[in-house]
Amino acid sequence: MVHNFFAGPSILPREVLDKMAQAYIDYNNTGLALAESSHRSDNFTEIINGAISLARELLQLPEEYEILFLTGGASSQFYMVPMNLLNEADTAAYINTGIWSKKAIAEAQIFGATEIIASSAEQNFNFIPKQLPETTQYKYVHLTTNNTIYGTQYRNIYPRVDCPLVADMSSDILSEPIDMTQFDLIYAGAQKNLGPVGTTLVIVKKELLGKVSRKIPTMLDYRTHIKRGSVFNTPPVMSIYGCWLNLQWIEKQGIEAISKNNQAKASLLYDTVDSCSLLHTSVAKEDRSVMNATFHIEREDAQSLFEELCKEAQIVGIKGHRSVGGYRASMYNAMKLESVEVLCQVIRKVEEQLA
Ligand SMILES: *Cc1c(COP(=O)(O)O)cnc(C)c1O
Repeated sequence: MVHNFFAGPSILPREVLDKMAQAYIDYNNTGLALAESSHRSDNFTEIINGAISLARELLQLPEEYEILFLTGGASSQFYMVPMNLLNEADTAAYINTGIWSKKAIAEAQIFGATEIIASSAEQNFNFIPKQLPETTQYKYVHLTTNNTIYGTQYRNIYPRVDCPLVADMSSDILSEPIDMTQFDLIYAGAQKNLGPVGTTLVIVKKELLGKVSRKIPTMLDYRTHIKRGSVFNTPPVMSIYGCWLNLQWIEKQGIEAISKNNQAKASLLYDTVDSCSLLHTSVAKEDRSVMNATFHIEREDAQSLFEELCKEAQIVGIKGHRSVGGYRASMYNAMKLESVEVLCQVIRKVEEQLA
């Protein structure tokens, strides 16, 4: 059995993959492939409506939130958010917790003024900055809830701000019960914890929109997709179907049970890393991500042994992001505890042989 620790596209439940594979060539025994069906067909209408209403239910989103399945990845939200919310004379506040935050800031600067109101840059992004100044004067505050690359995460306590709060939740959405009404706009690329790559979930309070003076290209205006229920143009039908299936899987497990399992996996791995002298993580204890654990191995002989044993154990996707090096274990919802146990066995073996 392969143990898939890739950060994204990442592990999905086997039953989701099986149903997707089947539907690709023959949707629900209709003899028609989903891949060759119109996005205006009854089948796809059921899928998109099902995905939207199940997302609303699982995330407990009140009526004032619109739910969209868009394309262009979370990276496109870096510019769509300021394009739709920020006038040239306005200032948006950003919390800088790493590469994804920085990319979001760079895009926002195209549309208006930005201010970094908190940052963990001076410590290589190994913690979550908690102190914020007053925020009444900003158009919105933007944060990244889970920093996929560094392994830091807001542990269910988000800053209280006096303006709309925007969150990039790409790598931890639906990993634990969260009161989503703390946020006004949320976006998440599907391929980390939501479903197969190809679509991006956007949740937005309608009242935020229509307040900028610039012209917005039709496809980049949230209101276009709200008006047309995410089928203004041809959406990525397979990806959205996969998201619906995965949402059904989440519903079946229960978000509480998923969260418990995520906690168990993360605790096991962090405890193992902490107890081994050859491995260390620089992430502040209270900010350690439940989704992506990052760690380093200093000694080269230990690195080689670790990588060799990972290969033997069929552990894949364990290398750290190319910008930070080291190792990273991504443990999204679909990963079973036993995969983390296999990784921990490998870690202990390295320690036994070389420490
Ligand atoms: C992966 C990731 C992104 C980029 O997502 P794309 O869909 O590839 O554009 C942005 N933010 C976070 C937090 C991510 O983990």
